[in-house]
Amino acid sequence: MPLLELKNVSVGYGRNRVLQNVDLTLERGEIVTLLGANGAGKSTLAKSISGLLRPEAGTILLDGAPIEALPPAERLRRGIAHVPEGRQIFAGMTVAENLELGAYASQEADHAERLEFVWTLFPILRERMKDIAGNFSGGQQQMLAIARGLMSKPKILLLDEPSLGVAPLLVGEIFRLIVRLRAQGITILLAEQNARQALSIADRGYVFENGKITLAGPSVDLLNSPDIAERYLGMGSATEVSGSASAALAGRLRDVMFPAASEAGQA
Ligand code: ATP
Repeated sequence: MPLLELKNVSVGYGRNRVLQNVDLTLERGEIVTLLGANGAGKSTLAKSISGLLRPEAGTILLDGAPIEALPPAERLRRGIAHVPEGRQIFAGMTVAENLELGAYASQEADHAERLEFVWTLFPILRERMKDIAGNFSGGQQQMLAIARGLMSKPKILLLDEPSLGVAPLLVGEIFRLIVRLRAQGITILLAEQNARQALSIADRGYVFENGKITLAGPSVDLLNSPDIAERYLGMGSATEVSGSASAALAGRLRDVMFPAASEAGQA
């Protein structure tokens, strides 16, 4: 049984139907990417899975149980965390407060354990817990948004355009982090316009056009498809995701996220 299964899902805003008869599955431990141009429906799909939008028709099954009528908080409790497009961290709040909000649907007793997990991935956050999130750069805020999503101990992480508005140097780091999350057993649905980079780390992909899936398959097949190459692979470069690259990630994240702190540490 797939971890998540969408069957014939249609979603709209008022009378404007955006997603039409979408069938999609997520198997445990996969990175699956959603590709498509602006407005193709990727964010709408992520919102439908996390519960911010309700489908007009169709079923969404989590571990075989229908969830399409459940409110977002209940879906979060069951293991679906959404890191929305544009990050939407609370700029006036501290790192600690942002992380705490991500944990609101989980048991208080789990918080310390989750903080330890997040600090393992982002060691510098431990030292920056009292800093105001709004002072961070775009890439740093994206990392914090992902860390916040991880506080609920998700089975599934929905990442909507994590590379958007992030400096090129940090984009590769974010993609390597996503690979590391998969190694931790988290299943990932990654909406991306940066098709080449997304396919270079994903197991499978779905291509959306005007709210419909027009192509789906293993990432290797999509990368080799002339159709995809012509329309979506014009820009960007693949991300190097070797084991050693992954192992060095924590240290590099520190450097890239908080260069001043690293320099101070070296002084
Ligand atoms: P992007 O990366 O630009 O967000 P996307 O593939 O995620 O693109 P969606 O944001 O899901 O696309 O948008 C799909 C369609 O739904 C677009 O035509 C968009 O104009 C429309 N749409 C999105 N949000 C709303 C809304 N709140 N009300 C009405 N229409 C909307």
